[in-house]
Amino acid sequence: MTFIKEKTLKIRKNQYCIGCYQNFEPGSSLLYCVYVVYGDLCTSYWCDFCHKYYLENLYPWGDFDPGEFATEKREFENLEKGADQ
Ligand SMILES: [Zn+2]
Repeated sequence: MTFIKEKTLKIRKNQYCIGCYQNFEPGSSLLYCVYVVYGDLCTSYWCDFCHKYYLENLYPWGDFDPGEFATEKREFENLEKGADQ
């Protein structure tokens, strides 16, 4: 899949990140991305983590299922929490 355009937006209503299915409240900043999957134009919201995770681990040809990055994100957050203690 190819990212065509991405823009950080302050959301005005609840939105889900396509990568981790986390719910974000109005006022949060999410990346609004336009991209192509198998020739289809798609738009979704991405949180910072999932966008970065995709680019670092799967870009450019990696497939993913919506919500698939939730486990990685949780592990990453736990690691961060652990580092604080
Ligand atoms: Zn996410």
